[in-house]
Order: sequence, then structure tokens, then C-alpha cells
Amino acid sequence: MELSIDKNYKKVMENIDSYCQLYNRERESVKLIVVTKSQPSEKIEQVISAGARYLGENYPEETREKKNEFVYLPEDLEWHMIGHLQSRKSQLVINEFTMMHSLDSVKLAKRLDHQLSNVGKKLPVLLQFNVGGEDSKYGWDASDKNNWSSLMDEMVEVINCSNLNVQGLMTMPPFTTKETESRIYFRKLRDLGDYLQSKFPELSICEYSMGTSHDFKMAIAEGATMIRIGTAIMGSREK
Ligand SMILES: *Cc1c(COP(=O)(O)O)cnc(C)c1O
Repeated sequence: MELSIDKNYKKVMENIDSYCQLYNRERESVKLIVVTKSQPSEKIEQVISAGARYLGENYPEETREKKNEFVYLPEDLEWHMIGHLQSRKSQLVINEFTMMHSLDSVKLAKRLDHQLSNVGKKLPVLLQFNVGGEDSKYGWDASDKNNWSSLMDEMVEVINCSNLNVQGLMTMPPFTTKETESRIYFRKLRDLGDYLQSKFPELSICEYSMGTSHDFKMAIAEGATMIRIGTAIMGSREK
């Protein structure tokens, strides 16, 4: 088991290297977020030993429990919240995470902003968009480019939350194994990023969190700066 997580991690890192070369990307511009949701702390320890420094989690209580089980964690280790968050759990994110990829409502933004101001902290966040328009996916519905302008009132409200540091966009597109299809979704998120940047010049949109185990090649081709890989490294999840 130990060997395979180590091997998987190195294999994915090699693939990132070669896709960066293939698509003319600087290697340093792509961060690997290892998704450790529903994985036990023993396996997380193995991937940290393999070299992982960015861990992605979906359930903040689970993250807090697991963190308490470690005797030692590298100082440069970062925990990233990548799952949908009920706003009543927002304080947990402030306490446990370096960054939030899955900001998906004005309500959550305002609550986080208020709690951050109470503790004098800022939180780097990404705005999650639903580029495929599926009911099962979270994020602002950005499937139809003609409707992007109607999202701007809510974007203003989020951007006005001064304790949130909006750094970019995130998406979880419809599942497909067709490269040409997944590429279209990733391209759409990039276009939306350009659109938001033009509407809000005060922002600096530079992060694109997109691509998982089966489609990170196309995500890198389309400019992903953070790819979120779970099963390809950690194996199948518990429960
Ligand atoms: C689970 C999850 C992933 C990882 O997916 P894999 O297919 O296991 O690589 C990435 N992003 C989000 C938001 C997830 O919930």
C-alpha cells in the first residue's frame, strides 16, 4: 500500500511534467492538490512522505478529526477546502484551511467575511462555477455565456467582502472521458475568468482550479493552475 501511493504520486508528477512540456506551460505554474477526502490518516501520511504539500478535503469536521491524529505535519503543508460548504460550518473553514476553492454563494461569502473580520484574518478564495449546468453540481450556473452578465450583481457582493481574497475560479465539469469535450468546459472557465477580469479590473484573477484524476491533461492544456487529484493517487475512497 505504502509503495503504491508513493508510486502513484510520482507517476502523476511525471505526467504533470510531460503535459506542461507538451502544452508550453511552466512547471511551477501547476500545483498538485492531492484530494484526501474519505481517506484515513495513515494513507495521508504516506502521500505526505511521497512529497505532497497541498491536500484537498471536502468535509471540514472530517479534516479537523484527521488533523488531530497526526503527531507531526510539515510546516509548509496546506489544507485546501474543495467541497460544498453549508454556511453554518464556515468558522471551521477559517480555522482549518489555507484556502477555499468552493465559494458558491453570496450568503456564504458574507458569513465568512464577517467571521474573518472578527478574528482579523483574510482568506484566499476561488469562485466555483457550474460550467455544464448540471443540477447535481454546485457553483453559480455559468453554462450559458449569454447569461454571464446576469451573474455580475452577485459577483459585486462577493467582491465587496473585503476579508475574502478572490484569486480565481474553480469548476467540476460533467464527467466525460472524451478529451475534446472536457476541454470545452475548461476553456469556458478560462473565458469566464477573462470576462470577470475585464468587469472587475481591481481583481487579479490568476488561479484556475480544474481537472481531476481522469481529465487533468486537458485542464493543463487549458491553463489550470491547480489540479485536484484523488483516486489516481490515493486509490478508491472509503464508505
Ligand atoms: C473528489 C473530488 C476530486 C477528486 O476526484 P478524483 O476523481 O478522485 O481525482 C476533485 N475535486 C472535487 C471538488 C472533489 O470533490
